[in-house]
Amino acid sequence: MTSPSLVWFRDDLRLADNPALRAAIDRGEPVLALYVLDEESPGVRPLGGAARWWLHHSLASLGERLRERGGDLVLRRGAAERVVRELVSEIDAGAVFWNRRYGGAEREIDSSLKTALRADGIETVSFAGSLLHEPWTVTTGSGTHYSVYTPFWRACLSLPAPRAPFPEPRSIPGVGDAPASDDLGDWGLLPTRPDWAGGLREAWEPGEPAARRRLRRFLDEDLRDYDRARDEPAAGATSLLSPHLRWGEISPFAVWQEAVGVEGAGGFLSELGWREFAWHTLYHSPDLATENLRPEFDAFPWPPLDPAHLDAWQHGETGVPLVDAGMRELWHTGYMHNRVRMVVASFLVKNLLIDWRRGEEWFWDTLVDADEANNPFNWQWVAGSGADAAPYFRVFNPELQAKKFDPQNLYISRWAADAPTEPIVDLGETRKAALSAYDVVKRAPKSPRE
Ligand SMILES: Cc1cc2nc3c(=O)[nH]c(=O)nc-3n(C[C@H](O)[C@H](O)[C@H](O)COP(=O)(O)OP(=O)(O)OC[C@H]3O[C@@H](n4cnc5c(N)ncnc54)[C@H](O)[C@@H]3O)c2cc1C
Repeated sequence: MTSPSLVWFRDDLRLADNPALRAAIDRGEPVLALYVLDEESPGVRPLGGAARWWLHHSLASLGERLRERGGDLVLRRGAAERVVRELVSEIDAGAVFWNRRYGGAEREIDSSLKTALRADGIETVSFAGSLLHEPWTVTTGSGTHYSVYTPFWRACLSLPAPRAPFPEPRSIPGVGDAPASDDLGDWGLLPTRPDWAGGLREAWEPGEPAARRRLRRFLDEDLRDYDRARDEPAAGATSLLSPHLRWGEISPFAVWQEAVGVEGAGGFLSELGWREFAWHTLYHSPDLATENLRPEFDAFPWPPLDPAHLDAWQHGETGVPLVDAGMRELWHTGYMHNRVRMVVASFLVKNLLIDWRRGEEWFWDTLVDADEANNPFNWQWVAGSGADAAPYFRVFNPELQAKKFDPQNLYISRWAADAPTEPIVDLGETRKAALSAYDVVKRAPKSPRE
């Protein structure tokens, strides 16, 4: 009698450096992999359109790679806790392994499932696979968590170095007759009417092998120049690893290990630090996507939403060239350069006076790297309401930003050559209006949110 091991894949769609998969193989029994599309559990945020496109291709790649090594991937849809328990009893699993998640709803599901499975006598173990440091391991001298990045990252750097990554398994002992799986195509993750994913297909190749190639190329060609050129959207100087990291096609341990010895890699590594900081912030503030981290921002007097302004921003029709270029890059490729993300976000919040949550929702739907932590964290950072945020009164001037970071107009002419040229708002006037709205926040009480 065998007692198979079940590996529940989530945001870790890779074979290499996957502690849950390794534990399952080490257990010495047949291994079955599972992915659950959970659109039912309360509090789990439904994926946006671009993320669904990525997920489809990443799962196709993962399934193929598992099968090449003797394993199998079962796809099921529904409330994760129920689906996992059903599959456990279907295959009479003796153990279940997964790598941890850090969002509030996900943690509730995982901990309730762990309790239930263990009560049934099933070995259930979770692992650290998606962050360099577990959120509860980085604390201040008085045991609280950090709300400022610099000391946070200093504390991370003083901890024992992140562990070395381990290679992918050469073979996976399969379960023989795998139980029924949904057909990936039936999940409808790909857009059809219309198929708007042409630009995504041109820009990206989801999956673990492509993630590794992307890292290699960055290390060979761009890392040394990263600090100088990372802020220039036309330079192509950044790693473009964000969607691969978001889906766990490459582990942060692998990225860390490859980059850490390279001279001058500190700036790049500290961006991985921002990723850690965002996820740790989400762990401690699960409502990051809906609640201002700084409660005095609840008093911000947002004017009634002007749908025409929101629409112009979303579709790159604001008449402000750098903003329109960024929004069009996003629409076409599912990605936008970080500097431009900051500029378009500042423009929405501080020139159009539209609540950061509306921008966060649009990014959630259109970014291939949209994730529960980095997206709301960075929106709150730009809006001034977040952890260690840019001060609200720092309003990016999109024209000066363009002069400084796109001096030869390469990025703007690539993406916004035919965009309108008459701005929908006056940058100076709207900046003044934003600053006077902010006066209300300054007067609001600053007591921490309970
Ligand atoms: C309004 C706004 C929304 C954002 N939403 C997301 C999001 O949903 N998902 C996402 O991964 N990033 C988000 N970012 C952060 C950043 O823009 C992207 O991570 C970066 O542009 C990805 O490109 P890259 O992989 O070439 O980055 P690189 O410069 O090569 O950086 C390497 C890695 O570090 C991490 N990183 C870099 N910058 C940041 C940052 N500011 N915060 C957190 N992690 C960072 C990413 O994982 C990135 O892949 C957002 C930024 C802003 C201003």
